[in-house]
Amino acid sequence: MRGLGNRSSGGGGKGMGRGGGAGAGPGGVCVCPQCGTKVPHQPGVPCFQVKCPQCGTNMVREGITPS
Ligand SMILES: [Zn+2]
Repeated sequence: MRGLGNRSSGGGGKGMGRGGGAGAGPGGVCVCPQCGTKVPHQPGVPCFQVKCPQCGTNMVREGITPS
């Protein structure tokens, strides 16, 4: 057993201990008002700039129901 390259100890711990982040929260979901397709909202991209992959309609933020 040679200790060559054994870096078990002394590794910088990464403090990101978030496991299982459900989409509910900042970001959310964009929904197509035309066909109802939902896609996960991309950070930095407003829903109304995202086009539906199904029908090409500009999507809206989920929760906002167009009357
Ligand atoms: Zn659509």
